[in-house]
Amino acid sequence: MPVALECISLTKSYGDMVAVNAIDQKFEAGTYACLLGPSGCGKSSTLRMIAGHEMVTSGDIILGSDNITDVAPAKRETSMMFQNYALFPHLSVLDNVAFSLKVRGIDKATRYKEAEKLLDLVDMGSYRDRLPSQLSGGQQQRVALARALVTKPSLLLLDEPLSALDPFLRIRMRTELKRLQRELGITFIHVTHSQDEALALADLVIVMNEGKIEQAGSAREIFNQPKTEFVARFIGGHNVLLQTDGKHAIRADKIAITKSAGEGTVAAQVSAIEFLGTTVSVSMEAGDLGEIVASVSENSFFDDAYDVGEKVHVGWEAQDLHKLAG
Ligand code: ADP
Ligand code: MG
Repeated sequence: MPVALECISLTKSYGDMVAVNAIDQKFEAGTYACLLGPSGCGKSSTLRMIAGHEMVTSGDIILGSDNITDVAPAKRETSMMFQNYALFPHLSVLDNVAFSLKVRGIDKATRYKEAEKLLDLVDMGSYRDRLPSQLSGGQQQRVALARALVTKPSLLLLDEPLSALDPFLRIRMRTELKRLQRELGITFIHVTHSQDEALALADLVIVMNEGKIEQAGSAREIFNQPKTEFVARFIGGHNVLLQTDGKHAIRADKIAITKSAGEGTVAAQVSAIEFLGTTVSVSMEAGDLGEIVASVSENSFFDDAYDVGEKVHVGWEAQDLHKLAG
């Protein structure tokens, strides 16, 4: 059964260091949420407190109608999948998955039946007798997922689950994670430092910075209406411009480049060009405005290509400027 989770003024200090600073966040039942932020911003500490692997310094964690702040990890209906998978090297795939049921005193026949069900769910049924060392990274990841799900948690916590995979596999497994979450209908909280991953997966993206939540919202909200300069810069694809009435962000694909000046355009000089496939990223120096990056479609770039060093003019529609707080 999916249940909602709520963190209330959740705080973690390590000595004098405040790693998670009084965060308030609600996760609706059945949500795919991503905690997104740079290394050291407190993502893992938050996740470990929710899992019960880390003591809470202050604040509360409410799962469904229960305050689980001081409940032991195994009694929480949560399950955690670790970054390095932490499979037992001497146990077969089947025994790895059945392990947490064994700890809970469930008989052998039942726990193997459940473990086989989960292995089938992640397409690993035919690997049941192998040892972890006889599996590829992607296969180990699936086994770790099956193991985390075998206790039928209401909440699955995943700490950088894709970061050990190569880029190709990472994208494939991310699709599978999303499919699995939809099928199971349970809440997933997925920690990542990758903007792409969070935007691709999450119903709810929570951007963290220095132990605090900068912004929480849907992927489109975060991308189109970043609240702060930090979010605009971290999520990428935006330019932060200082205007007389404060800081604004404008999406790189909303910047127009022309060879001749027009109304309201700004003179700039091309400093770098990167071909990215469907788009071309053009960096320019625009005087007082500093660096401006435009994302131009491949076709329109090559219709009227310009070179590094060339003088151009940049413009944008006022309606595409998005005001930032502070
Ligand atoms: P993230 O997962 O976002 O990279 P963490 O939650 O791991 O961030 O860490 C947040 C901050 O807390 C970092 O500055 C880190 O060095 C510190 N930290 C994490 N775990 C411990 C610990 N066990 N003891 C002391 N400091 C820690
Ligand atoms: Mg971490």
